[in-house]
Amino acid sequence: MIALVDVLIEHRNPQLSRPFTYRYAGSKSLQKGMRVIIPFHQQTLIGFVMGIIEVNEDDPRLTPPGYTLEMIREVIDDQPIINTELMALAEALTAEQQTPLISFLQTMLPKSLKPSRSSLKAPKIAYEERYFTKPMEELKDPLEPKEYELYVQLNVPLGVKKTSVKNKRIIQSLLQKQAIRIERVEKRRTRFSHLETLAKPVLTEEQNKIVKDILDEKNPISLLHGVTGSGKTEVYLALCEHYLRQGKSVLLLVPEIALTPVMMSYLLNRFGEEVALLHSELTPAEKYDEYRRIISHQARIVVGARSAIFAPLDHLGLIVLDEEHSETYKQDSSPSYHARDVAIWRTHYHHAKLILGSATPSLETKARAEKKVYGHYELPHRVNEKAPPKTVIIDLNQTELLLPEASMFTLPLHHSIQEVLSRKEQVILLVNRRGYSASIMCRSCGYRFSCPHCEIPLAYHDQAKLLKCHYCDYRAFQPKTCPECQSHQLMHQGFGVEKVEEHLHALYPDARVIRLDSDSNQIREKTLASLRQFQEGQADILLGTQMVAKGHDFPNVTLVGVLLADMGLNIPSYRATERTFQLLSQVVGRTGRGDKDGLAMIQTYHPQHYVIQTGSNQDYASFYREEMASRRATQYPPYTFLTLLEIEAQDEVLLTETMFQLVNYLHEKIPREDHLIGPNIPYPEKRGPFYRRRLLLKYKDKAAMTAVIKDVYTLLQSKRNLRFHLNLDPYDV
Ligand code: ADP
Ligand code: ZN
Ligand code: ZN
Repeated sequence: MIALVDVLIEHRNPQLSRPFTYRYAGSKSLQKGMRVIIPFHQQTLIGFVMGIIEVNEDDPRLTPPGYTLEMIREVIDDQPIINTELMALAEALTAEQQTPLISFLQTMLPKSLKPSRSSLKAPKIAYEERYFTKPMEELKDPLEPKEYELYVQLNVPLGVKKTSVKNKRIIQSLLQKQAIRIERVEKRRTRFSHLETLAKPVLTEEQNKIVKDILDEKNPISLLHGVTGSGKTEVYLALCEHYLRQGKSVLLLVPEIALTPVMMSYLLNRFGEEVALLHSELTPAEKYDEYRRIISHQARIVVGARSAIFAPLDHLGLIVLDEEHSETYKQDSSPSYHARDVAIWRTHYHHAKLILGSATPSLETKARAEKKVYGHYELPHRVNEKAPPKTVIIDLNQTELLLPEASMFTLPLHHSIQEVLSRKEQVILLVNRRGYSASIMCRSCGYRFSCPHCEIPLAYHDQAKLLKCHYCDYRAFQPKTCPECQSHQLMHQGFGVEKVEEHLHALYPDARVIRLDSDSNQIREKTLASLRQFQEGQADILLGTQMVAKGHDFPNVTLVGVLLADMGLNIPSYRATERTFQLLSQVVGRTGRGDKDGLAMIQTYHPQHYVIQTGSNQDYASFYREEMASRRATQYPPYTFLTLLEIEAQDEVLLTETMFQLVNYLHEKIPREDHLIGPNIPYPEKRGPFYRRRLLLKYKDKAAMTAVIKDVYTLLQSKRNLRFHLNLDPYDV
């Protein structure tokens, strides 16, 4: 075969994001979607085949005037490594995001299959030897009782691992009688830690009705809005069963890797070997094995975190996004994508059904459900019919309430902790570290350092010892005294989990404390072990950041304490209120899940703030009303769409000129002045030798804007010495 082959090279550089033509003269049959090894300038790179034209030896296109076509050195794959659907998806995402196609292909594929040089050293298939039996009726020689006993043990569909069988003598005779054989099969390296056995409950009337209604729903996308403890998981599982019975496959996403084992337990108990697990913390070998099990249809159910949305399942019948509001579904770094948008694309492609489940749906999703763009289903009651937990809001401005020895605790919270510990029940304490040292406040008079222009709290940057406004870039050195009362007692608002833990040991010396650290790298091992310990009652207090609020079911927890509920509100982002609401109502939902009544105590400097009020009372409806009004007034989503443009260059003059050019162009295209924000200088201003600038675009008409963004991309692509990143629907701005 002689062919002209269009090849995408592995570099993610926008300037190189187009196919290059190579010549192929080999014996393998080359297809779109295979990887090849190619020379590129002085390098040897991996390429991805995008198109093939077979030609005759004397075809003039093989000898273009002026240069010589390079040859493809080697074909790596025997088959295309990406199916038609995922290729189309990558192309759609590329068109929308203006990101090099190769970077989506690399994101979708496990390391061993990525079109990049790193794939060549990545793990390949592992094998193991297993015993398989011959069918009973085909046996020629009769079996001795001992032999028969072992034969029955080995008579299972997937065979039995050779190394796990001890009795070699009987094995020998079974082999001789040809009752069993040894086969070399692909090995699954994925390990599952401590799965629980969970019984399958009878669905409640409410759950049953919702399952039926969702199956009858004409709209392919539905919101399942159910309060915490309303039994959404059982609804997902019933839907899974339905689609599997129809011969379809199912994709189930959870927002955190730490939540995958719980979901795996549910699914493995019910569906066994058909379940595969995919997330970014699997080892490359594990990921590769799971990937192959999906492609070969051994697994028809995939559970995973964000990146599992690209699982190569065909015949998809159902996609579930549990806790659909979770920010972890958005990848902000390049290539940026939102798992929800990818899920919607795949749902349409497969004519499948998508369930967006949450106790606190994102405003976008709720607004669409209210407008009947999505189906809308609600589970307003807890399964166990229990009343929601009692909540107490504690005003931190009342200094007489503060515990003298540790002012991050108030007396009411301290007393409640003591009581709960004496009853041998458990406590969850939430420290919202996202706002670590977010701001500085005067301890004597309560003065808060805010931006003189924007009035938002100034963020404290520890390294630079600077106070800085994230909106307008105002900066000030950290003052030594309070401008109001001249007090020296300036307090960094925000404290680390470590500090709280120290105090806990001092205040409750007998209590066993577990600290969850979401920053640690070994999330899977360490967090899971900690959660299990707490579940088994080996600890009394679980302390941590966001992670402690997420979907766990600890029946012995009767007290939830939030040390500083407003911390998240100081984050300069339009999402700050929504995120704080979600976090508060989630964490409140962790108490009183068992037989005993639950209590939640929320410490705050803003006891009257609507987010604190609605979050503490899990009052979604009121929050939704207030927040939508504010988004409307400020023109943020869901009333607009956003795109964040980040540009970097070593040459500051070039950067400034480019921004000027862009802003000029955009002013013509964007009718409202308040819909173009920036250019801003992000913090830190430089990344390495690169100066940085940001521009935020708001728009109402997504289709019209796609064309504008494409122009912006073309303009930037034409500039040398510039790096840029377009982030559609950025989570935090
Ligand atoms: P959600 O995800 O909506 O917060 P879960 O799915 O975690 O709620 O369910 C809450 C609790 O209720 C879990 O312990 C679950 O096992 C239990 N549960 C759910 N459905 C039923 C049912 N039909 N009968 C008995 N218990 C149920
Ligand atoms: Zn003061
Ligand atoms: Zn400012």
